[in-house]
Amino acid sequence: MAAVAERELRGTPAAPGAAIGAPWIHRPPSPGTTARRSLGEAASLAAAEVTALGGRLRDGGREAEAEILDAQAMMAGDPALLDAAGKLVSSGADPAGAIVQAGEEVAATFEAIGDEYLAARGADVRDVAARIARHVTGAAAPRLERRSVVVAGDLPPSVTVELDRALLAGIALEGGSRTSHAAILSRSLGIPAVVGLVGVCAAAEGAAALGIDGDAGTVVLDPDAATVARLEAVAAGTHERAAADAELGSRELATADGHHVTCAANIGDPDEAEGAFAAGAEAIGLFRTEFAFAGRATEPDEAEQAAAYARVLRAAGDAEVVVRLVDIGGDKPVPFLSIAPEANPFLGVRAIRLAARHPQLLPTQVRAILRASVDAGRPASLMAPMVADEADVDLLLDLVAAARAAVPDAPAPRVGIMVEVPSAVLLADRLAERVDFMSIGTNDLTQYLLAADRTNPELAARQDPLHPAVLRAVAGIVAAARAAPSCEVAVCGEMAGDPAGALLLVGLGVDELSMEPRCFGAVNRAVAARTRPDLVALAEAAQSLPSADAVRASIGVVA
Ligand code: PEP
Ligand code: MG
Repeated sequence: MAAVAERELRGTPAAPGAAIGAPWIHRPPSPGTTARRSLGEAASLAAAEVTALGGRLRDGGREAEAEILDAQAMMAGDPALLDAAGKLVSSGADPAGAIVQAGEEVAATFEAIGDEYLAARGADVRDVAARIARHVTGAAAPRLERRSVVVAGDLPPSVTVELDRALLAGIALEGGSRTSHAAILSRSLGIPAVVGLVGVCAAAEGAAALGIDGDAGTVVLDPDAATVARLEAVAAGTHERAAADAELGSRELATADGHHVTCAANIGDPDEAEGAFAAGAEAIGLFRTEFAFAGRATEPDEAEQAAAYARVLRAAGDAEVVVRLVDIGGDKPVPFLSIAPEANPFLGVRAIRLAARHPQLLPTQVRAILRASVDAGRPASLMAPMVADEADVDLLLDLVAAARAAVPDAPAPRVGIMVEVPSAVLLADRLAERVDFMSIGTNDLTQYLLAADRTNPELAARQDPLHPAVLRAVAGIVAAARAAPSCEVAVCGEMAGDPAGALLLVGLGVDELSMEPRCFGAVNRAVAARTRPDLVALAEAAQSLPSADAVRASIGVVA
């Protein structure tokens, strides 16, 4: 018999690692099955079930996922959902179909807003409705019989946590994004996942085995022996790293001779805060707030924003949370701002530059940040992106003063700026005197210093933040901050999470490295292996090398 040829589907990497398993296709229950229970009884059973699942997660220290299930328990008891389903039953629908349809309608209203965070809430309603429908029909809970790669359109979090972890090898989804609940959950569970795999449900139907590579973002149908060997090697490497990194997460970020650097997390969604602290973050160094604005038809109001920021402040306990004012416009258009396409969006009306054109946007956000700190009973820090000069600092400080007048109970926030525009590097001595901290955005700073569009793949080689020009800029910013009365320097661009970049930044005297939590272990390991004087010498010498490649070569391989 001829061997089945393997076939590869490409999606978006959502959780690292690799695995091989039998395809297990998850389908929501089909309506029309005979009812065994009333909607009310089924809803109570569903609520009790998700509450118990939430409790199990909480006991295991997984507070963020537990909160998702707490919210679902409330949705199951929501009379509006049951009333809507009841009305459909009165007009002839079967109860299981009615609750699925009612859930669908509520989910659609969330999704119509076009916001990723609210769309995830919509997915939660759909998930709860499907669970109630399962109890109405008395159908069995989803169960894996052997080691499987779960394939689905979207995978509700309550289904993910119910599946036998020992048999759940990987997750392959048609839909979803890196910030969808399924992706967040699979990262925290350490299950490789790929999202955005067009056609995977249909393709998996006929496959005997699936190989999943969560680093590359691929799924291989019926992998051959060579692919199996490759994926096993990826999986072994991931397990080794994860075990070593988990131990390092709780160790403080310090050089071999004890020089401590603050290890902070970058997050882009309130749901990520809990996981960041569990992974060992000492602070949130960059809370990107675009999630609240992206894809919105209308501007999010002050209360809605304040609630999201307060959640992060609460999750942080006493640790600092730096909320970044929204960085939209230019290359990140939002419908409610109606910005015409620009010829050079990275040089366009972006971030703090929107203040003149949309006079309520930033005042509302700064008030929301202060209200969140009143609600959470502790101060927030705030920072503005794309600050170019002292006029932008004036604007920022005026915004803060006006918001403090409007929210007089709020504790004083620490106020900082991102340094990512070359003019701000040249003016760093002046700017440092006026703010509490500067956080260097090496992603934008590299593209602006080297005039290389960060979204153009052809220029990727020119986008390396280890370029001597970027290192000199960082050195200048650190020197300016040291000369100011009181100004700390952080780096929150990707360079901070690259072990080689982190070594140079510590050598350059940066106080805080803010990165995606998945980078903590590798950065910690690299920094702990070197002494401070060694890194100072390394960073000094790197500034006189001819290229980013030469700088990388001077550092050698970082384990
Ligand atoms: C940066 O530019 O380095 C940065 C952290 O901001 P963003 O990537 O959101 O532009
Ligand atoms: Mg930036």
